[in-house]
Amino acid sequence: MSQELENRNNSLLPLGAIFALIFMCFIGLYISLDSESEVLEDSYDEGPETQVELYNISVNPGDNLTKIFHSIGLGNKEVALFSNLGKKAKPLYDLKPKQTMSISVDKTEQRCVNLSLWLNNEEKLEFAWNEDHYDISRTKQQLATSINYAKIVVKHSLLEDAIKAGVSKNIVYQLTEALGWEIDFIKDLRSGDEFKLLYKQVYVPNKGYVDGDLEEVVFTNRTGEFRADKFQNYAGLSAFYLPDGRRLSRDFLTRPLKYTRVSSPYSLSRKHPLLGISRPHHGVDLAAKYGSPVWATGQGKVVFVGNKSGYGKTIVVQHNYKYKTLYAHLSKYTKGLHKGSKVAQGQIIGYVGMTGITTGPHLHYEFRINNAPVNPMTVKIPRSPSLAKKDVEKFKNTLAKNDEIRAQIQRAREDL
Ligand SMILES: [Zn+2]
Repeated sequence: MSQELENRNNSLLPLGAIFALIFMCFIGLYISLDSESEVLEDSYDEGPETQVELYNISVNPGDNLTKIFHSIGLGNKEVALFSNLGKKAKPLYDLKPKQTMSISVDKTEQRCVNLSLWLNNEEKLEFAWNEDHYDISRTKQQLATSINYAKIVVKHSLLEDAIKAGVSKNIVYQLTEALGWEIDFIKDLRSGDEFKLLYKQVYVPNKGYVDGDLEEVVFTNRTGEFRADKFQNYAGLSAFYLPDGRRLSRDFLTRPLKYTRVSSPYSLSRKHPLLGISRPHHGVDLAAKYGSPVWATGQGKVVFVGNKSGYGKTIVVQHNYKYKTLYAHLSKYTKGLHKGSKVAQGQIIGYVGMTGITTGPHLHYEFRINNAPVNPMTVKIPRSPSLAKKDVEKFKNTLAKNDEIRAQIQRAREDL
């Protein structure tokens, strides 16, 4: 864990340093302007100098505007000004813990001259005093993002090696989902295989940089190199594409669960752990904690929800005329799910449990083609369509841009 932090800090150091510098410049500027105005006011004697104090506030549970105002020396008269602003100011009367606000107070008049409330990571509600009333504005701010580069060399397990390289679980999950149909992350990886990743990081007020979307993967093993880049097509769909424009994603996700291992594989004859008899295992058992969310691997319609003897609580989803998936031993279903419900790819439909005949909590997952069970881990799902002609040029630009970013970061690290 400490190593993870250390690596992350390393990769963010230049950015952090730049931010710190910019911040210091601002402070410097602010101080120099401030002292200058004081001198001016003193020499020209234009009446009392106004002193504005800025308060940065993080909303705690149980806080409300009155409490916050009182804590910074503003009285009920000021509170009343805000409580008469109506609908537009509603978020102020309904503050949520962890929201942040900044309040500028004119100390001479004991007046709030500016109040900014962050509604979420991007949206700001601002009240600016204008002679005798507040101008209210709501603005969306583009969050600062940066692109990070990381290299994972496989030694033990992908997750372990990733964390060592400073890559978060979130990014590993996106990686396994992006390449899940191309690489079997359990069987195909060999020691020495490499992943080079480009991924977005987003600056969140009060949190710092957090990992966002994976943008590019370059995978190298003994047989060669494989590259995939994320691209948003003209219809607004984001997916990973090979350099020749073929799309990687399929109509099905590789797994109905997060970070899982197969505890019992698909088999045409296996000895049942409880029943002691040999019979085919028409699905895979995926180890998971009790209560872990289970999602539909493809878009479709629920054709069965209920108890199915040895399967316990079970859901069956029909994807089109040809494909069906089955999820068994669930502890519960998502509220409101019923026969006929339409589900999206990745939508949570239930939770891992141990209903039916089972030795412990796990998910039994089946994949059927024309009603015949197949191994969900090896089933061949056709690749989604390639890039449309009108997207080709734009996609080439994306590749070139990612090449440049990668080269830049690599150069910067060598300089260090
Ligand atoms: Zn099973």
